[in-house]
Amino acid sequence: MKVQIGEKRPKTLLNKGTGFLSGYTHSLNPYTGCSFGCSYCYVRQMPVSLFREGEWGTWVDVKQEAADLLRKELTRAKAKGEVTIFMSSSTDPYQPVEWKQQVTRSLLAVMAEEPPDFLFVQTRSPLVTRDIDLLLRLGNRVRVSMTVETDREDVRKHFSPAAPPIPARLQALKRLKEAGVPAQATIAPLLPSTEAFPDVLAPLVNRVCVDDYFMGDGSGGRRTRQLGIRQKYEELGLEEWYSSTAYQIVLKRLSRVFRDDQLYVSEQGFAP
Ligand code: SF4
Repeated sequence: MKVQIGEKRPKTLLNKGTGFLSGYTHSLNPYTGCSFGCSYCYVRQMPVSLFREGEWGTWVDVKQEAADLLRKELTRAKAKGEVTIFMSSSTDPYQPVEWKQQVTRSLLAVMAEEPPDFLFVQTRSPLVTRDIDLLLRLGNRVRVSMTVETDREDVRKHFSPAAPPIPARLQALKRLKEAGVPAQATIAPLLPSTEAFPDVLAPLVNRVCVDDYFMGDGSGGRRTRQLGIRQKYEELGLEEWYSSTAYQIVLKRLSRVFRDDQLYVSEQGFAP
């Protein structure tokens, strides 16, 4: 699908952490829009998408002069107290446009020089490994959260055909581990997976977060219902997985190979 790339000059980059992210002082989005365009993306139901003509996933605005702006805002915020940042809440910081535009990389470079107290990097893209050099400079002040909703590629393709393949994400987790960058696998939103999924993750991470639409879409599952996601489960004959208790099955499977203190559910898995 053709993606329209535009430009945007934001007045602010660091926004107050609210709702699901109220554990953070700030959220940070290098782009507006996300070309991964996942079917279940709750941002589809938010004003940023609803008031825009093109369908979610078909447009991305690149934030201009973002590094300069962040440097100023970060210095100001740090002077006031603790700064914990969630990047990103409504876009993927490592979507394809980042290969060329490098907005995320430029923001990380600022944060490597002027470190926040904590930075959470939420992505589903192996491109994050390009920035291992900068992530390492943040030491234990950073955690990369790699979305791996399932170990089934057929399921991934059905729900998010434009997103990176699962094996590439697993490979990225391996590289992060080898490099010594703190990371977790984030099964969110939880999609139908196999019994072997925990064994696939075990050698790659020592921390796993599980979340689903009912706990994690910010509206108790309403936004997801409005997106008609149930139908996508029916198309696969897997509607029993569209349930507020399915996560318990996966959690039980995970607890075969992970300790309790390595498993996090919903908001606690995204906390600083
Ligand atoms: S990668 Fe994240 S922000 Fe982008 S479409 Fe998918 S769920 Fe939405």
